Amino acid sequence: MTASNTILTDGSGRKHNYLRISLLEKCNLRCTYCMPADGIALSPKASLMTADEIFAIAQTFVENGVDKIRLTGGEPLLRKDFPEIVSRLSSLNISLSMTTNGILIDRHIEVLKQFKVNKINLSLDTLIASKFHSITLRNQFEKVIDNLHLLLNNDFQVKVNVVLIKGFNDNEIIDFVKLTQFLPISVRFIEFMPFAGNEWDRSKMVSQNEILSQVEDAFSSDEIQKLEDEKNFTARTYKIKGFQGNFGIISSITNPFCDSCNRIRLTANGKIKNCLFSNAETDLLAAFRNGESLTDLISQSIQNKKKVRAGMVTIDEMDDPAKHFDNRSMIAIGG
Ligand code: SAM
Ligand code: SF4
Repeated sequence: MTASNTILTDGSGRKHNYLRISLLEKCNLRCTYCMPADGIALSPKASLMTADEIFAIAQTFVENGVDKIRLTGGEPLLRKDFPEIVSRLSSLNISLSMTTNGILIDRHIEVLKQFKVNKINLSLDTLIASKFHSITLRNQFEKVIDNLHLLLNNDFQVKVNVVLIKGFNDNEIIDFVKLTQFLPISVRFIEFMPFAGNEWDRSKMVSQNEILSQVEDAFSSDEIQKLEDEKNFTARTYKIKGFQGNFGIISSITNPFCDSCNRIRLTANGKIKNCLFSNAETDLLAAFRNGESLTDLISQSIQNKKKVRAGMVTIDEMDDPAKHFDNRSMIAIGG
């Protein structure tokens, strides 16, 4: 067994080679499923990781087997030192990707090209401008659409993340699937998940079965092709015959993919979370600033990872608000 297997492999044999780093807690949108209506208490600037600290902590993970890093937030492109962060991380032997709301893509496209951040997940929950405002509380629809096309025109691989909320955008599922006819994108429908302050309840969620049933009503069974899922997949993917793109379903609630989970998260203030749904955090930044070794802390966090959704095995357990209120809001975790 190599060093990489020892500290990043948990008791269930899952190897954690994929690190998601949140660069900040701030955002230029206010998506209601992500950012609580009253906002969040932001960490003081001094407790956020600097570019040097992000690089050094990431390097420790890479030395121990991480080969894939995704930058997220908050909105990662709001970091003033984004070019420096990307430039430093690109010197590591990793695949570097980013999740963004797309608003600032045009400002950073040259940096993304230069440092080969060519896999972009872009969040877009509706194809209708007025609805975009009602979910994000900002008027940036055209900008996001323009930047989606800018990415495609520059040969980026784009996945479009759509969080589905009943009565809001479940009537756009087929429009999003049809978008893949002429655009080489992968649309990923995400089941709405519970986090602190986002007023989740099960009735607002659109399940994997409901999504597939709409697709089966709109297309014949000959046209709907199941694609092979990626290794360590989070989305079960499908394609409509002849369409350029494809679509997938991220069913963290009704059909979780914890068995193949290879992800670990580092928050903007330097805490690792071994699971999106876990409130347990390990403070790597404090240890780093004290000159302590990080490997034991990382190993403990990985070993403490529960088999399924931080121990919430059934949907009924997910339903219990008491299980979520002391987790962070999504904006402060980094999706
Ligand atoms: N600001 C960037 C963006 O919106 O893409 C990156 C951060 S955002 C927290 C990362 C992803 O988390 C987005 O695709 C967003 O749609 C998703 N997300 C946020 N809250 C969610 C929730 N309650 N359920 C499911 N997905 C959520
Ligand atoms: Fe901002 Fe992304 Fe959260 Fe929307 S989903 S509020 S864009 S961090």
